Amino acid sequence: MMLNEHQTKTTKKTLDDKFFLFLLRFILIVIFTIFTSVLIIDLLKSKELYFENAIKNANDIAALVEERGSASIEKMDIILLDAVREFTPYMTGKSKINIETANRLLLEMMIQIPEAQKESLRLIDKNGQVVYNAGEDAKLPNVNVSDRNYFKQQKDSNESNLVISEPLYSKFTQKWLIVISRKFVDSNGNFAGVAQLALRADYLQKVFAGLNLGENGVITLYNTDMRIISRFPDLNNTIGKAYNITEVSEAIKSGRVSGSYAKDSRVDGIHREYVFHKFSDLPFVILVGTSPKDFLASWEIKKWLYIATIILLAMLLIWLERTLKSATKNKMLLLEESYARKVAEESSRSKSEFIANMSHELRTPLNGIIGMAEILSETELDSEQSEYVDIIRISSDNLLEIVNDILDFSNLQAKKFILNKHTANLQDVIDSSLEILKPKAKNKSLEFIVNINETVPSSFAGDDARLRQILVNIIGNAIKFTPSGTIAISIDVVSNDGKDMVLKFSVKDSGIGIAPDKLKLIFDAFSQADSSTTRKFGGTGLGLAIAKLIVNLMDGEIGVQSVEGSGSTFWFTAKFGLIKS
Ligand code: ADP
Repeated sequence: MMLNEHQTKTTKKTLDDKFFLFLLRFILIVIFTIFTSVLIIDLLKSKELYFENAIKNANDIAALVEERGSASIEKMDIILLDAVREFTPYMTGKSKINIETANRLLLEMMIQIPEAQKESLRLIDKNGQVVYNAGEDAKLPNVNVSDRNYFKQQKDSNESNLVISEPLYSKFTQKWLIVISRKFVDSNGNFAGVAQLALRADYLQKVFAGLNLGENGVITLYNTDMRIISRFPDLNNTIGKAYNITEVSEAIKSGRVSGSYAKDSRVDGIHREYVFHKFSDLPFVILVGTSPKDFLASWEIKKWLYIATIILLAMLLIWLERTLKSATKNKMLLLEESYARKVAEESSRSKSEFIANMSHELRTPLNGIIGMAEILSETELDSEQSEYVDIIRISSDNLLEIVNDILDFSNLQAKKFILNKHTANLQDVIDSSLEILKPKAKNKSLEFIVNINETVPSSFAGDDARLRQILVNIIGNAIKFTPSGTIAISIDVVSNDGKDMVLKFSVKDSGIGIAPDKLKLIFDAFSQADSSTTRKFGGTGLGLAIAKLIVNLMDGEIGVQSVEGSGSTFWFTAKFGLIKS
């Protein structure tokens, strides 16, 4: 009943633990999934944000360049218009001006426009020849621009517009520049030349360099033919070259003025996010490119940090799972062990109980047989009959001894053995033990020596019957295993605290002795030093096991020294109460 309850509890516990492990794993997986998902979502979202920000930043820069570029061109146009107004009389031949004076006047006009090429304000006659040039003196460059497109355009046009040239390479300064021009007309409306100013590409580059676009960023100013006016950084001398950027040209063709796209650059191969703006008043397109390598740099760090965090978390959770799993397994093992131990104890107890009950039941009929054999031996019998009756008596005596031993051993093991405590005389215990053993020693020539140390009190408080049982066992063995010689019994005091005393009993024989490898075994139940012992000497192998259990109950120890062939000394100690005399 108890066992079943325990078993149910253990099974329930084991099931609980299995469920706990399952739940634990489930919770850990859920935690990991949620945490990882949050990190991944955050990573993807923040990547999108980084892209959005990069494009917004590029748009802002493009708008800024457009604004500043337009403002510069406007400023230059004002100077050109001024020059046209001031110099029309001289250019149309109405008045005359000294070249040096004119040149100085032009130089003065240029002071307000640092973005223009130094001394680039020029006045060109209708044949394309430079007639005045901003400067400190009357020097004029020997330049004819009649073949330049912008000149032809001004000459052929009926309108008086600001004309911006394509990027031009100045052999004179060895620099790339664009020329902006306004034309002179005489009183009849005929073409009378142009006033022009140059804007240097490297000036624009300097402006672009000041805009922070990252290490791999690029800003390019195109004219509407997609010819590069200025680029920062200027790799492979791209200025002046035309690139067909379909994404931009198609968007412009369809009327859009701005947009964005991603592409590997044809100039340097770097992948970039590009933003373009077509200038609203000028024939320019600004293209701003930023590389994910730059604007995702901090995102990349974040990504690796998140990956490391996920790996660490995974490792932590695995460790936690393993630790808890092994802890639970250990707990389950312990539970199972304790269950197994309980079962073993329970079954050994019930076995001992069964044996004790059975031995008890056997004793009644056995006593009957012994009593009847006794009575039968006293009747008139012939010699053969009395020999048979003797055999019955001796056999049943032996059997009773064995049954008694088994009963004692079972009771001792089942812990049903209680020691009595009363006053007894030590000499009486020795004498009665030897008396019991007399028949065993009958046919042997054995000398018994008893030596009780004078310090040993004559009386003691304890269980004399159990002390006798131990002595009968040990002295009985000495008689059994000693064919002839002496058996010396000695008793000494080991300790005496005035209340209790510990006595040491030794039984020394001159018998067959015990092999060294068997010495440890002989105190175990049902063990004999030699398998032939039963045949030769009888016995069950229980005597010393019982003696050991009783000695333990008496708070003592038991042991043996033996030399094979020359004899053994068995000794034991036991604690007794002192009798005050
Ligand atoms: P048994 O009933 O066989 O005597 P015991 O437990 O009393 O059982 O003894 C166990 C074994 O120890 C014996 O069978 C014997 O082999 C050995 N033994 C015990 N006492 C002696 C002794 N005095 N001399 C030699 N052998 C002994």
